[in-house]
Amino acid sequence: MICPVCGGREIGKVGVEQYYCWECCVEFNSNTDNVVVYNLEEDGSLVAWEEFYAETPETAQAFAE
Ligand SMILES: [Zn+2]
Repeated sequence: MICPVCGGREIGKVGVEQYYCWECCVEFNSNTDNVVVYNLEEDGSLVAWEEFYAETPETAQAFAE
């Protein structure tokens, strides 16, 4: 198991198929088909990176127009 973001090996298990990277301080799951990375916010909540990706097509479209 390595971190999908930084490739680091300082990985801690925090739940079922849920891991934490000490190198870049993100959580991620171990589903190989669709790895989801989460930012750990200061209040302890998890924010999936997918939400940030979802903004990308809109931004790209804005540039195209
Ligand atoms: Zn990492």
